[in-house]
Amino acid sequence: MFISQRAQRTSPSPTLAITAKARKMREEGIDVLSFGAGEPDFDTPEFIKDAAITALREGFTKYTPTAGIEPLRKAICDKLWRDNGLKYEPNQIIVTCGGKHALYNTFQVICDPGDEVIIPAPYWVSYPEMVKLADGVPVFVYADESTGFVPTIDAIREKITARTRAIVVNSPCNPTGAVFPRQRLEEIADLALRHDLYIISDEIYEKMVYDGHEHFSIASLGEEVKKRTILVNGMSKAYSMTGWRIGYAAAERELIAAMTRIQDQSTSNPTSIAQRAALAALQASEDAVKQMVTAFAERRRAIVDGLNNIPGFRCAEPGGAFYAFPNVSALYGKRWGDRVLNNSDAFAEYLLEVARVAVVPGSGFGADENIRLSYACSLDTIRNGLARIAEAVQALG
Ligand code: PMP
Ligand code: GLU
Repeated sequence: MFISQRAQRTSPSPTLAITAKARKMREEGIDVLSFGAGEPDFDTPEFIKDAAITALREGFTKYTPTAGIEPLRKAICDKLWRDNGLKYEPNQIIVTCGGKHALYNTFQVICDPGDEVIIPAPYWVSYPEMVKLADGVPVFVYADESTGFVPTIDAIREKITARTRAIVVNSPCNPTGAVFPRQRLEEIADLALRHDLYIISDEIYEKMVYDGHEHFSIASLGEEVKKRTILVNGMSKAYSMTGWRIGYAAAERELIAAMTRIQDQSTSNPTSIAQRAALAALQASEDAVKQMVTAFAERRRAIVDGLNNIPGFRCAEPGGAFYAFPNVSALYGKRWGDRVLNNSDAFAEYLLEVARVAVVPGSGFGADENIRLSYACSLDTIRNGLARIAEAVQALG
């Protein structure tokens, strides 16, 4: 069957794949504990669901403007002012089908064939694929535990060429949990101004920061930096609304207009009633968000300490998001039957098959010495999961 080159060279999302596999095993009656997709286990707060139900009952079930309803775009402007000190007008906002879609539209709008996008690694699995889908070229800058998974400015600078169009900043970071220090953001902003680059700032984990770490939006470093920044955020993580598919981007009016044209010809507006739910979420107090973050902080302590107690695991302290990203390479070379566990895929497969624990191999994030565990799950799951992993690791001898 004919399948386009574009589709053939697109890999499936490993985070979604591992989660689907764990779900299927559970449906088959196998007791699997999942640390797979980054999806809060909390239900969407009741008042948010009520807003959607009201919208539904009112018959708010038709197309909306492609870039989202005006009150929601206004509420997003208010949020960006309140939380990030950023002043945007509603025509500088596009509401999208999740933050993922905002990023997809962004790369479609800023990349011509061969344009390079600098992506700090370890990176979220979808950035390189989305850049390639826009005929761009992902260029990676690697960082490891020794720099807290934050690339040095020299390492970033070395990757800039005449073809560089943009740099991605994802702080707090999925998968490492790194929160970029303000100084590094200033240096990145400086590079962007000097080399005429866009900054794509994915701030979807902004609310999940711990131990005195603070989120800082790079766009707030000044008017010129803001003009070059495409800020992406969404409702999935902070409000436990992954299935509702509402995200957004904020940027210069021309960029938003271009993204809206792409959206006009692809998805049209995000779901009408989900937009009304998002509006309710953004207009309410942040109590529900704070409760979730308090729970994440407790889980983070439990998982990081627990992982560091397993021989062969070395887990850096994540400042934000809800992922632990231990280095397990000390265990590479161990035997599992007639196989040798010599990379993160094999190691994750071993944990799934033997410990019945689903984790995401680091390979998809550009870090084959690591595995990712989402701790957006219950403390019980964490305790039991760690016990299973410890037992499976011990069995390796
Ligand atoms: N950015 C990052 C770094 C993420 O981890 C995710 C997780 N899905 C997203 C964007 C997009 O999330 P969503 O499409 O659910 O808003
Ligand atoms: N972003 C989440 C994760 O990394 C959800 C899955 C996805 O969209 O990749 O697990």
